[in-house]
Amino acid sequence: MKKVGIIRCQQTEDICPGTMDFKVASEGKLAFEETGPVEIIGFVSCGGCPGKRAVSRAKIMVDRGAEAIVFASCIKRGTPTGFACPHYEVMKEAIVRKIGASIKIIEYTH
Ligand code: SF4
Repeated sequence: MKKVGIIRCQQTEDICPGTMDFKVASEGKLAFEETGPVEIIGFVSCGGCPGKRAVSRAKIMVDRGAEAIVFASCIKRGTPTGFACPHYEVMKEAIVRKIGASIKIIEYTH
């Protein structure tokens, strides 16, 4: 089973415990149809705007065994607030530079 680390939007924490992320990951559904069921080895926030802390947090999760870094849907899709992260592309590019292109990036969860 593939191991993944999930990064979420800190601004969404108060209204979403990430229940659907854990559900679709364990069932291998939606964004995880390609990987099949995955084990979540870390579930962290971006650290708050503009998301710089997500870079070191992604690296720690890779060091702890994550084979893919997953952005929760609150970041790219703005689920459930309807407000997508304006820093997403910069954050993602910085993370890829830090962890290397060999680590898979999944851009949403559900
Ligand atoms: S940087 Fe993006 S993901 Fe992080 S708190 Fe701000 S809006 Fe949310």
